[in-house]
Amino acid sequence: MELDPKRYAGKRLLRREIPLSTNTFENALHHHHFKQIPPFRKEKNNPYCNRCNATGHHLQRMDCRICNLHHIYCRNCIQMGRVSNCDHFYEWTGPEPQWPAHVDPCAWDGELTEHQQIAADAIEQAMKQNGKLLVHAVCGAGKTEMLFKGMSTSLRHGKRICLATPRADVVRELLPRFRQAFPSVTVQALYGSSPDKTGDSQLILATTHQLLRFYQAFDVLIIDEIDAFPYHADPMLHVATERAKKPDCASIFLTATPRQKEKRQIAAKTLPHVFVPVRFHGQPLPVPTSKICFGMKKQLQKRHFPTQLMKWLHKRMRPTRQLLLFLPTVVMADSLQTEAQILQPFAEKIVPKSQAQTLITTVHAADKDREAKVQAFRNRETAIIITTTILERGVTFPSVDVAIIDAGHDVFDEAAIVQIAGRAGRSPADPTGEVVLFHEGRSNAMDDAVQAIQDMNKMAKRL
Ligand SMILES: [Zn+2]
Repeated sequence: MELDPKRYAGKRLLRREIPLSTNTFENALHHHHFKQIPPFRKEKNNPYCNRCNATGHHLQRMDCRICNLHHIYCRNCIQMGRVSNCDHFYEWTGPEPQWPAHVDPCAWDGELTEHQQIAADAIEQAMKQNGKLLVHAVCGAGKTEMLFKGMSTSLRHGKRICLATPRADVVRELLPRFRQAFPSVTVQALYGSSPDKTGDSQLILATTHQLLRFYQAFDVLIIDEIDAFPYHADPMLHVATERAKKPDCASIFLTATPRQKEKRQIAAKTLPHVFVPVRFHGQPLPVPTSKICFGMKKQLQKRHFPTQLMKWLHKRMRPTRQLLLFLPTVVMADSLQTEAQILQPFAEKIVPKSQAQTLITTVHAADKDREAKVQAFRNRETAIIITTTILERGVTFPSVDVAIIDAGHDVFDEAAIVQIAGRAGRSPADPTGEVVLFHEGRSNAMDDAVQAIQDMNKMAKRL
């Protein structure tokens, strides 16, 4: 029986993740097509998880119903399926998969701006040389298109590519674009609830969590939004991305809002980088304005939309733009949803009532209808989304105004505010948009974000 190397190579899988019958699997082991790896290893007498590298309190003990022993399991990577002491990992040691070398893989025929072209050339160079590159591109710079040239060159050489991003929404949004851009290449999207789980395509789009199943799989690894939660703060995901690379692998890091660590690396010239300060349509980034709202927190507690917000809604420059309303917590977003009918007249100016039943929706991280709701908004079937920072980045809507309610709250750090502001003015047909921070006292993050946006705009003007 022939097993497909593409299905198994470059992965570290639990037995139950390998859909083979006992017979076939035993046979494959016998023929050294798989190598067995223990679930945990010991370093200086401490156990470490061989999937996520966790140790200490992450490893807990349990009464195992499979082997009837009391033994450790890993809580840290449990969302990818439990690794316990009586499991094993398996790595493919059979024939290497042959990925096709595509003659002319890219069907995208758009044109890059001058700044995009500079970045695209640098990306291509880094991919050719298996190097590292940080691409710092403002929100709306068109970074996906900047990747195409380097990716085409890589695919011509039969390389395997992964683009990983912290958010499933972004994976879902990118999938159709990459399928369209590379019609002859197999492309898959992997995320927690993705319909496809096999991970046997040449081009993989995945959440960073999904990389935990890969092992020396990719020739090119692109990590989108390196500054975003959870990637930037979770050492497990750094382990996963490092391990998913082949020994010779190009690493491309993308960000619109680099954190201190990257800023230091750029300043110290330890990480090659390219900067794209201009949006692809050439218009400046919308600079947030702010409105102080005395008594706003009390109003919010009583489930009332802030008075200042209502005033602003009455005099928006373009009342037909869709609206993104950001709130600091799920609880607040939910509690305001119950009072959302007060926004109905504004919603009906955006989307005529006959087109849809519900014009105003709430979206948050644990929302099982999140995908459908984001899609409905993108289709202009809904008018207003009330949301948390979950929609702060990655998602693109052509014509929106943005309001942050309680903008002084801790969750709205500098990067979050810059990203949220970056949702506005994305399309050439409507390259501006209003971004308003409603607050009861300015935070440093608000000042820093406004400063950062103004700096980018200045830099763009100079170029
Ligand atoms: Zn683990």
